[in-house]
Amino acid sequence: MTDFLQKTVLVTGGAGFIGRHLVQEFLNRGCKVRVLDNLATGFKKNVTPFLNHPNYQFIEGDIRNQQTCLDAVIGCDWVCHQAALGSVPRSIQDPVTTNEVNISGFINMLDAARKNHVERFVYAASSSTYGDSPNLPKVEHIIGNPLSPYAITKYVNELYANIFANTYGMKCIGLRYFNVFGPNQDPNGAYAAVIPLFIKAATLLQPPTINGDGKQTRDFTYVANAVEANMCAFSAPESACNNVYNVAFGDRTTLLDVWEMICTHMKIDLQPNFGPPRPGDIRDSLADISKARTHLGYNPKFNLEAGLEKTIAAFQLD
Ligand code: NAD
Repeated sequence: MTDFLQKTVLVTGGAGFIGRHLVQEFLNRGCKVRVLDNLATGFKKNVTPFLNHPNYQFIEGDIRNQQTCLDAVIGCDWVCHQAALGSVPRSIQDPVTTNEVNISGFINMLDAARKNHVERFVYAASSSTYGDSPNLPKVEHIIGNPLSPYAITKYVNELYANIFANTYGMKCIGLRYFNVFGPNQDPNGAYAAVIPLFIKAATLLQPPTINGDGKQTRDFTYVANAVEANMCAFSAPESACNNVYNVAFGDRTTLLDVWEMICTHMKIDLQPNFGPPRPGDIRDSLADISKARTHLGYNPKFNLEAGLEKTIAAFQLD
């Protein structure tokens, strides 16, 4: 049984959406938590609630700076690497910056962790790595060609983690998140994810614009499930390391059905608008989560319905 109480963990990207939830859970488990984030897409409001916590430390810094990474990791037992520039459209708009943050920043963190003899390096991988593979459900060892610069960066992360494991004996685990959603996810800006966008549209009674026909499917994953997967990855036996795992609920839903669920929950009747499909997007996505269940003991508790209920409630409080 892993003793979280004894551990100091560096959460990169801890001022972001998933990072904030991870920070909360590590603190709940008694860990010392250090966050490294440059607030590029993260927020001060994800940092301030913890600033007075005796086990919390925030470092404002950029993972593209090697020395910053080296300094941040000193004294840490674990690294939970979330910092990256997300979003397929952002990467199509600005592939160079996405590459710098997601690949150079990633290897900076990985190398800093190696030099500081970090026990375990768990990182946010992505379902985008499945690219154009038509296989459903997605199983970890069958991937296609990447469909965007973002997808390339996330795949390269896996390749580097594998090389660092084989060459230096590092213990790495990649978690391929599938469409994570939940409270605190930013509904604003050009690169907002679909569920916060839908909830915001429903709140304002403004029809959302769906890219494509709305019949594309996603394996929507409530953020608490993703947090649980990370906790499992840090507790799993060494034999589970140097591997990647799907992190999802294991069910798929069309965007139209998600919109309908939100409308029903919020008691509104509003028809969406439709725009052209987005380049770089896949049509269907569904994870086989049996590998994570077997090797990490991952057992997601929240389905889409339960997650939506909590997310809408939190959105209304904001
Ligand atoms: P987010 O944008 O809310 O969080 C990312 C955090 O990284 C932000 O706080 C941002 O400020 C920070 N960051 C960005 N560039 C940085 C830099 N150069 N130096 C230091 N910090 C930097 O996104 P999220 O949804 O919480 O995603 C977390 C991780 O999960 C990312 O690696 C993302 O690629 C991955 N992921 C997310 C999803 C999803 O559905 N949300 C799906 C697959 C993978």
